[in-house]
Amino acid sequence: MKQDQTNTSEIISLLIKEGLLTEEKAAYAMRVKSKLAADRTMIDTLLDLKYIDGNQVKNILRANHLSLRIGDLLTEFGYLSREKLETALNIQKTQKKKRLGQVIIENQFMTEEAFIDALSIQLGFLFVDLSTEDIAESVLENIPVKWCMSHNFVPVKKTDGKVLVAFADPFSKDDISGAEKLFGQNFIIGIAPQNMIEKRLEKLGSGSLKSKAVVDENTAIGIVDSIIANAIEQGASDIHIEPFETRLQVRYRIDGILVPYKIFSIDAATMVSARIKVLCKANIAEKRRHQGGRMSFDHLGNQFDLRISFFVTVFGEKIVLRILNRIDQIIKLDNIGMAPKILEKFKRDALGAPSGVMIITGPTGSGKTTTLYSCVSAISSPQISIVTAEDPVEYVLQEISQCSIDEAINRTFEETLRHIVRQDPDVIVIGEIRDNYSANVAVHAALTGHKVITSFHTEDSISGLIRLMNMDIEPFLISSTVVCVIAQRLLRRICSHCETTFKPTAADVKFLGYDPEDLEKYTFKKGTGCPACNHTGYRGRVGVFETLILNELVKEAILQRKTSYELRRIAIESTGLVTLMEDGLAKVTMGVTTLEEIFRCIPRLLQPRPIHEIIRLSGGY
Ligand SMILES: [Zn+2]
Repeated sequence: MKQDQTNTSEIISLLIKEGLLTEEKAAYAMRVKSKLAADRTMIDTLLDLKYIDGNQVKNILRANHLSLRIGDLLTEFGYLSREKLETALNIQKTQKKKRLGQVIIENQFMTEEAFIDALSIQLGFLFVDLSTEDIAESVLENIPVKWCMSHNFVPVKKTDGKVLVAFADPFSKDDISGAEKLFGQNFIIGIAPQNMIEKRLEKLGSGSLKSKAVVDENTAIGIVDSIIANAIEQGASDIHIEPFETRLQVRYRIDGILVPYKIFSIDAATMVSARIKVLCKANIAEKRRHQGGRMSFDHLGNQFDLRISFFVTVFGEKIVLRILNRIDQIIKLDNIGMAPKILEKFKRDALGAPSGVMIITGPTGSGKTTTLYSCVSAISSPQISIVTAEDPVEYVLQEISQCSIDEAINRTFEETLRHIVRQDPDVIVIGEIRDNYSANVAVHAALTGHKVITSFHTEDSISGLIRLMNMDIEPFLISSTVVCVIAQRLLRRICSHCETTFKPTAADVKFLGYDPEDLEKYTFKKGTGCPACNHTGYRGRVGVFETLILNELVKEAILQRKTSYELRRIAIESTGLVTLMEDGLAKVTMGVTTLEEIFRCIPRLLQPRPIHEIIRLSGGY
């Protein structure tokens, strides 16, 4: 009985939250239910009492499906007994890779048809019959089959501007967010049996999928291939291969943090380095100087570009491979994680401005390149010409002229920028402002009516302005060309598989400058660690932003060469600026990330305002 109540409470509180049910009615139904036969569920009871309407419940569940567990729904709607669910959950514990639905079907607790029925009829997901449905070629453009495979979905067709995507498990947050990376919010969730999805994907991937190489880790080729292939599969951004006295250590950078992958004997070091040098056309004979190179790597039919650096240490060459065009690097602007009200203002006043300089700033690994690409692809259209100078091009966009800087053949930044303005561009993307020259080019291009998007290396938005002033750019040039400065960081996301609630410590609260009661009504979460998150408690990352859109008061302050303290104060008071710290705190109180992440990544420049004030400025979340 107790067990049942805790599992149902999520659905009940959702109904209450959505205003479909009152606390009183829920309590009454609970008392009624306790007098009924044991197999009556709470939903049944509520339906009997006519407290809720089946269709309403269906709609609410569909709209909120991501916050509910499939097992609870199946038992609540009477498809599966509580005992069978417990057994299935126990089996799943020993077979970690399997989804609950898979376990339920394999153990014949429900037939696959009944399972799909339950999801499609009862919960209202559109059933997609893949045995008859033709898959439209147009939806498959630029869609990596491997990505769909690892997330168990297949895009089917476009209807009303949205892509219908068939999922094996529409309750899997991972799979849904996998689809979001490709389609943003622009898709309809459908459901189809797992084996049908696999069959269709196999056909689509045709030859390339089956050719998955058998990796032989006894050869240098095998070792290098498996190191790179595994890194791509785990979503790593960099691979570190480091020689020590007796071992060769391989680690991956995943979500910004290095994670151990494998240890090889030091004997493997020379051949691994030789193999990588062959692949990236570096000098094999040279072992005493630092070197660099580039290569492309084919993984299950998808091409990946890698940039390689060989760095000579006392124990041999440390090799770092950066994986450049990862699938998850382009995110739709609407999905980068900027607060709604701020995103709207940014689109209207900055992105929508006909000319001017837009700067995205932050340290290495803060996600600014991703944001830059999101902005560029948001404004890209057949009516305008976009030309870039990047060092290097990290992701190839459609219908944009991108140039990779190559100092080795004297295609320098300076040389490229000199030519770029003669290319009749509407938008100029300067990968990074790194000296007075590039800063001057940016400002003067904006003065002559161009839109310039660029990145910078400063801590926060105000420091971006100060840095420009310190680069000997006249204040009047800055105030008349710069339209916005976005500072950003990437914080690790709490793992949804092992999240639990907790109370922040008194020390944390005090450090933030809040009183304990200021935070009382918010729920804080953290991950306890599980196999899904490599026992780190985190999975994936979320951007936090400080979006400064210059207004007359800030421009005036720049002209008067005010201090950074003054500029920051004016920006906060007059432009509705939400600081990095504040945006981070809003995301902590939403249970997306943790206070530790904030303390680890975000500078504390000013006392954050009360949470409700931050949420008001952000326009809710
Ligand atoms: Zn976890």
